[in-house]
Amino acid sequence: MSIIEHELGEPNMFEKEFLKPMYAKSNLKFQKKFQENPLGFECNVCDRLWFLNDLDDVISKTNCIELLSKEFPEENVENFKACSNCLAALKKTKIPNMSRSNGFKYPLPELA
Ligand SMILES: [Zn+2]
Repeated sequence: MSIIEHELGEPNMFEKEFLKPMYAKSNLKFQKKFQENPLGFECNVCDRLWFLNDLDDVISKTNCIELLSKEFPEENVENFKACSNCLAALKKTKIPNMSRSNGFKYPLPELA
């Protein structure tokens, strides 16, 4: 269902003939960017939530498996997916500042 159909009910002849083709490209873009790209996937390094397409496999994009293994010794870092911010740091063989290993975890620890 397009945005026009969703918001206004059944499209009339004008909408079908004129508006729908005009918005077809936008509808397709919206569909790919949001409907087929769910939100709520965590970066395994910084623990922030992202759209699925915003995350990439660390193993295919960087050469930092050994570095990450030292930082997260009890986890299988070969399966890590990371956001572009974390990947940029990892490509420079640096642990990102916002890394879970630096205390940026969710949920937050209880304050005494
Ligand atoms: Zn990240």
